[in-house]
Formats: sequence, structure tokens, C-alpha cells
Amino acid sequence: MSTEESKPVVEVERIKAASRRLRGTIEAGLADEATGALAESDTQLTKYHGFYQQDDRDLRNERQQQRLEPAYSFMIRVRVPGGVCSAPQWLALDRLAREYANGTLRLTTRQAFQFHGVIKRHLKPTIAAINATLLDTLAACGDVNRNVMSSPNPELSALHQDTSQLACQISDRLSPATRAYHEIWLDGEKLPDSGEEPEPLYGPTYLPRKFKIGIAVPPWNDVDVFTQDLGFIAISEQGRLAGFNVVVGGGMGASHGEPETYPRLGDVAGFCTPQQAVSVAWHVVAIQRDFGDRTNRKHARFKYTIADRGLDWFREELARRLGFPLAPARAFRFLGTGDRYGWSRGLDGRHHLTLHVPSGRLADQPGRTLLTGLREIAQLHGGRFRLTPNQNVIVAGVEEIDTRRIESVARRHGLLHDQLPSALRREALSCVALPTCALAMAEAERYLPALVDKLEVLLAAHGLNDTPVTLRMTGCPNGCARPYVAEIGLVGKAPRRYNLFLGGGFDGQRLNTLARENIDEDTILATLEPLLAAWAREREAGEHFGDFLHRSGRLQASLEGAA
Ligand code: SF4
Repeated sequence: MSTEESKPVVEVERIKAASRRLRGTIEAGLADEATGALAESDTQLTKYHGFYQQDDRDLRNERQQQRLEPAYSFMIRVRVPGGVCSAPQWLALDRLAREYANGTLRLTTRQAFQFHGVIKRHLKPTIAAINATLLDTLAACGDVNRNVMSSPNPELSALHQDTSQLACQISDRLSPATRAYHEIWLDGEKLPDSGEEPEPLYGPTYLPRKFKIGIAVPPWNDVDVFTQDLGFIAISEQGRLAGFNVVVGGGMGASHGEPETYPRLGDVAGFCTPQQAVSVAWHVVAIQRDFGDRTNRKHARFKYTIADRGLDWFREELARRLGFPLAPARAFRFLGTGDRYGWSRGLDGRHHLTLHVPSGRLADQPGRTLLTGLREIAQLHGGRFRLTPNQNVIVAGVEEIDTRRIESVARRHGLLHDQLPSALRREALSCVALPTCALAMAEAERYLPALVDKLEVLLAAHGLNDTPVTLRMTGCPNGCARPYVAEIGLVGKAPRRYNLFLGGGFDGQRLNTLARENIDEDTILATLEPLLAAWAREREAGEHFGDFLHRSGRLQASLEGAA
């Protein structure tokens, strides 16, 4: 027995094993009117049902002084494989956001929707209503395969259609088989084997940690394929899908001050055909189920299994399970990770409008009624909506005759302007962080716009306002907005203080490096100003900021200066 196997499993593993296929005591907890919370052990299980228990951290102290329990509410995540939804689905989610959540819809960095601020007694009607739209929340969180990402607009080309279909197929194939979800939220019948029904892929303890899959269509790496536990890179030959390069072992999460935890880019393990891809995904997940570390949740992601055991071991193990080895990887090239805004035209002649949604938050504010604007568009749009991995939305499949009306609604509600936001703002991502995320150490979504305002002044001073730079901010090192591949990454350390990471690849193929620790806004700006000035002065044609920092030696100099 290895040392790892002889270590005791963590408490979460015991909760999963005893949960009777994710039932726990969730139903009893929902019926308990004495508290707005669920039992601690059930909060581990509800993640698999698609929601987290949270409390309003802005109100914590005040409620404590008043001897009230925290202001509990729930974040519900809707699983949307490939980020595709219809106009009726959009309208239903919009109604739920206003009726049961905090009046906003959030588009996530994994092409899903999130509702925030749902109280306990509204959980069941909200989840039931989501299911009535033919979307669901099962496996949107938890130690299972999460929402499968895919390059966002299947109407752009046949290749995009193929990858979007693959996202749905993988999502279906890797869904948990438990009937707990239907019993609890949809009043499904309890059968004699309830709690012991087969769970063919996951078994009774599911995976050691969450698992993320994304499918990229070069030249755009918008899904950040190297940050996924399992990535597929579509390879086309003469405009047709030839297959996928298989990328394994990427992941973003880390903990401050614990070097044994780290972000990692995935390795290209080989190539599979389109027909093999679902089976490859199934077996890769099964490998992680069997070999992932269940003794330490900080070492339980697939990236550590790959890092510890090696790519050769993985290839052999996968070949043994598949009955054939992956073929040699094929050539590919990525140009960037961002979205292309405004109108584009698909092969079928229909139009697609990509709208910028800052931090993915659809809310109504004075002069910027984004939630209402999208609702009005959904009311007159016969096509679909595509959520992008950059927290934006595409109004897709618009007939020529409808383009003017849709554009006019978008303009009226502040979704579209004559002038696009600066390149920096367009590329910026942030996680939710405060006030709802229990793990946040600093602001992200609420602070990002103010910091971007100041950075825009710096960039404009050096003539760089139209030059794209990737900026990503998270409230803690878990990395939900994939900060460690940004050219400028800011990771929350404490209130108003961040770790600054520099030099990620614009195409998502290089991790950044920790340049300054625990710094405030003034130091962030003072650190970046000379680097941006040097980039403006000395860059080669088309050279991105991260590449420049490496080539010019400025990153190294900056690190030495900070030491
Ligand atoms: Fe919360 Fe951290 Fe994820 Fe941000 S990165 S949403 S603070 S867990």
C-alpha cells in the first residue's frame, strides 16, 4: 500500500459515501423553517445538485451584533453545455432571476448561468422551473464533471456545430446517474433501490474533486483549453473535423503560501477521432476516479495525478482502458483567448451579435439596463443565445430582417455603443468574490471596473488603449476567472490587497509569474506603469504584453527588483 493510500480519506469522502447517492438529509433540511441554512454535511451534497450555501458577508457583523443567524442565501448554477440556450429558456431564467434571486443573472467563465441570493424556501420552485425549461442544475458544481465548455457559436461553421454537439454528448454521458435530483427537486418517485441505484461512472464517492472539460476550435482558445482537467482541441482538415488533440492535467486553483499547490497547464497527450472523443472523456474521468488523491483535497485535482504519475503513465493507462493508444498529436495554432465583438455572419448567411457584458453581470442600473435589454431581445429573437467563456453573450442566428431591431434594442439598453470599450476592458474577467463567495479574501467583480478606469488612463498615456491585454482578477487563489494565464493576473490576498502575476500568454499557452505579493492599488499601478511604458516604446510589431515582458527581460528585472 502506498503512503497516499494509507492516509485517511478526508471527511468529505465520508459524507459522500454515506449520502445515499447524494440524498443526505437535504429534504428534511428544506422543510426546517427554523433556519435559513441547511445542515453542514448537506451543504457538501447540494453542490452536486447545482447550488452553494452562502451568506451576505457585507451583513455578517451587523447580524452577529443583533444575534441573528447570518443572512443565508444560495447561489444556483445552471448547467448549459457549450453555453447554448433558446430565447424561451432565456426568458424563463430572466423571470426566475427577478422572482426568486437578487434581480440579476450572472454569466460565468464556464458558459453557465448563476442566480445569486435565492433563499431556502425558493430553492425548490427555482430548480423545478429551471428543469421545466429543459435546462438543469445537476452536476453544475461538486466532485463530478462540470459544465462542458465549447467554442461558443455553433452556427459559425460546421466545425463549431460538431464541437457543440460533442459538448452535449460528453455532458450527457458524464452526468451522474443518481435519481436523488429528480426525487428532491422534481418530486420524482422513490423506488425500492433509491439510495443504492447504480452509479456506473462515479461509484458511491464520485470523484476526488471537481473535473472540468473544454473544447477549443483554433485559432481561438476562448475556452482556455490548457486550464481544463481535460481539453479537446479541434483539428480540421480541408474545413472538416478530423478529430481532437487531447489535453490533460490543466487546472488553476492554488493556495497562498503553499507551494505544493499550484496552477498547471495541461499536456497534449495525443489525438483521437471524433467518434472516439466521448469514450476518451469517459475513461479519463474514470482514471481520475481511481487514481485521484482522496486523502487531501488540496492535492485531489487531476492535474496532480498527472504531475505525480507522469504523462507516459497516463497514456498507457488510457490505452489499456480504451483498448487502443491515442494517435500522435496534430499541429494547431492559437491566436488569443478573447471574443470578437459586434456583428458576424455565419456560413448559412444568418447574423450573430456578440455583446460585451462586464464581469458577466446582467443587471439593471441607471443608464445601463442590461437585464431588461436582453429580455427585450429574447422577446423578439427567434434564434438562440450563446454564452461565451469570456462572460459575454452572443445573440445568434439572427435573420437579416431582424438585425436592425435587435441592434436598436441593444443600443437603447447600453449593451452596444458606437465605440467599443477599451481593449483592456473587453478582455478583462473577474469572479464574483465579495459579498457572496465564502472563500473571497478581497473584492473582484465590484472592484474591477474602478481599477480598469485607472489602468485605461495609463494605457492611453502610452497610446495603448486599443492594444489588447488580458487582465483577470479573482478574490482568492482558487482562480475561478483563470487568472494564472492572464498577462496581468490579480489574486485577492486580503481586503484591498492582491498578489500581482505577470507575463501569461495572450493565447493562453503560458502561465504568468508572481511578481508582487500583497500589494494595494497604488503599488499595482506603480508596478505596471513603467512596464507598460517600456512595452509601448520597445515592443516589436504585434508583440503582446506578456511576450514582451519575457523577451525584454523586464519580467525578470521586475522580479529581482521586488526581491
Ligand atoms: Fe470565490 Fe475564489 Fe472563486 Fe472568486 S476565485 S469566486 S473568491 S472561490
